[in-house]
Amino acid sequence: MPFKEGNYVTKHCLICDRIKLIQDNKNPYFVRELNTGYVVLGDSQYFEGYTLFLEKHHVTELHQLAPAEKLAFLEEMSLVQEACAKAFHADKMNIELLGNGDAHVHWHLFPRHNGDTAQPGPVWWTPMDVMFSDDVVKDMPRLNRLKTALSAALDEVLKVRATEDGVKNLNQGD
Ligand SMILES: [Zn+2]
Repeated sequence: MPFKEGNYVTKHCLICDRIKLIQDNKNPYFVRELNTGYVVLGDSQYFEGYTLFLEKHHVTELHQLAPAEKLAFLEEMSLVQEACAKAFHADKMNIELLGNGDAHVHWHLFPRHNGDTAQPGPVWWTPMDVMFSDDVVKDMPRLNRLKTALSAALDEVLKVRATEDGVKNLNQGD
């Protein structure tokens, strides 16, 4: 389906295609559906634990979302990046919303480890042919291990979040 969004008139949306694969149960990178988006692992795992959080609706800017959905999406992204940090023992999380290639709003969540690039800096300083050289789908045991780790961390983070909501509701009932 072509979309028209400012200068990004276009083209077929690859992220909508990936979401369709999730809905058809055919996306091997899929980890979890949340209220506002889908959690998937990156195709390449050169930076092990590279995770994406895809907005459910085709918008190309955060401000195109209705206010309540925007806040919920930001909150859920924060929970996903927390789970990513725990699952992959990050020394630092990198969180990016770019969309210059595929404009559909999606977060890049990179668990970073000390010394994982030649000099401290963004992952994008790594040559593309290196960074995207290993499509992890070719190593299903590794992909499944990473998905299991992220899923378990998500369970933990979402449980804590639900408990916080419960406590808040109790307090509001006073
Ligand atoms: Zn899209």
